[in-house]
Amino acid sequence: MLIRCFIHSCEAIVVRAILLALLLGSLTACVQSPTGRSQVLLFSENDMQRLGEQSFAQLKEQETVSKDRALNGYVQCVTNQLVAELSGGGQWEVVLFDSNQVNAFALPGGKVGVYTGLLRVANTQDQLAAVIGHEIAHVLARHSNERVSRTQLANIGLSAADTALGQSGIRQPAMAALGLGVQVGYLLPYGREQEAEADRLGLELMARAGFDPQQAVTLWRNMAAAESGNQPPELLSTHPSHGTRIQGLSTLLPQASNLYMQARAQGKQPACAR
Ligand SMILES: [Zn+2]
Repeated sequence: MLIRCFIHSCEAIVVRAILLALLLGSLTACVQSPTGRSQVLLFSENDMQRLGEQSFAQLKEQETVSKDRALNGYVQCVTNQLVAELSGGGQWEVVLFDSNQVNAFALPGGKVGVYTGLLRVANTQDQLAAVIGHEIAHVLARHSNERVSRTQLANIGLSAADTALGQSGIRQPAMAALGLGVQVGYLLPYGREQEAEADRLGLELMARAGFDPQQAVTLWRNMAAAESGNQPPELLSTHPSHGTRIQGLSTLLPQASNLYMQARAQGKQPACAR
């Protein structure tokens, strides 16, 4: 009996493995990130939007939302300039959390969270735009879908594809895959390729909105300097720099500077004040 069950489950596993391989093969072949990288995405845009919205609502209950009107207006102003450059635009919700955390995130469904602690490291509107642009780029490139897909496959193996998001044990890894590792205590850093991609797309986005891309380099230098202090930036635990970020950004600067000059010539001159 035991042997029969074992053989039966083996057959089932083999069949599922073949189906999964076919599924992944087709997904890998037809899905590409904005920079042309192949991606395995198991979930729909709607799934990810719902997960982003649910997670954001949960965070707003858990964390303290800042009531500082000037600071809220400042963060909203920077985000608005960036979002205006997105194809499709849309309304993005921005929330400023009152916390010493040096952290920020963006979620599918058009959600941006910034912690007041970040404003100690991001000293200017351009540096803040560099962080928020980078976070929005993670969303545009569907990095959370990619990570939650990988996590799902790694954790649940062959029964992965048909488990609904937000159910059973997937929720915490799913929130971590959204870049909320520090908040949920389940750390899942972005990968090297995802970081490089978010750097590139984020730099282009800030430059097109009229923010000085050179300030992105300054921001990550500030972040590196803060890392050696008493309270290392929480952002760096989910956004490792791999030691090559500043070098990579510097390589991209000439092209981004052209976009910046064009934007300024078109009258895009953000003046967000804190
Ligand atoms: Zn990142």
